[in-house]
Amino acid sequence: MRNPNDLRAIQLIFQNPDESLNPNHTVEQILSQPLKLYFNLSGEELKKNIIDLLKKVRLGEFYMSRYPRQLSGGEKQRVAVARAFAAKPDIILCDEVTSALDVSVQAAVLNLLQQLKEDLGTTYVFVSHDLAVVRAISDRVAVLYQGRLCEIGPSQNVYKFPSHPYTEVLLGAVLEPDPDIKPKLVAEDIVEEKPPEKGCSFQGRCPRKIGDICNSEVPPWQIGENGNAIRCHINIEELASLQQ
Ligand code: SF4
Repeated sequence: MRNPNDLRAIQLIFQNPDESLNPNHTVEQILSQPLKLYFNLSGEELKKNIIDLLKKVRLGEFYMSRYPRQLSGGEKQRVAVARAFAAKPDIILCDEVTSALDVSVQAAVLNLLQQLKEDLGTTYVFVSHDLAVVRAISDRVAVLYQGRLCEIGPSQNVYKFPSHPYTEVLLGAVLEPDPDIKPKLVAEDIVEEKPPEKGCSFQGRCPRKIGDICNSEVPPWQIGENGNAIRCHINIEELASLQQ
């Protein structure tokens, strides 16, 4: 049988806490499970650890006896965060963890995650479609199109100097308060049901496509002076000059 500690180092927080928390378990039971499984805790020590976890996610001791249905969306997500941290993981995979929450609660949950990251040194792999959320929480960003990597780099570089044509389109599509400011680069508006079998994943919509090579050969990785790595058949320095 697999040692549970093999799994302890990587934990998950899911998009929808309504589906990830057992509705028939109290908060105490939910938080007990990883503490028993990974650390074999019981009795007073178990209770003390549960209270500490609740404190970390800014919930009081009295939440222990509550069921998920008695909590708001933000409180449920805090319990899910506490459950992930109960395992003392090195890495937490956060899968769209704020998308089911309203905007004011999103900010509070992001602040909490940021604080816990700083206090405990945990690494997040943060999956999101919300570009503002990604910018707020990330040190490094990986951009995917059709499930394939297009660009990786330090967060501030990717946002300030997007190199790959898809990243350029993606960030250019963020709405500006001024309605006269239009996207600089616009991709083809077609529905792609699956990734292409050969070549570049963005070939069907790319506004900078250079020809058949994009359809037939997987683009190579290149690293630019700004530290961003991209997959494209156009030279990364040439792309930078096209974007000016
Ligand atoms: S490889 Fe071709 S299709 Fe893909 S992003 Fe670069 S230019 Fe566009």
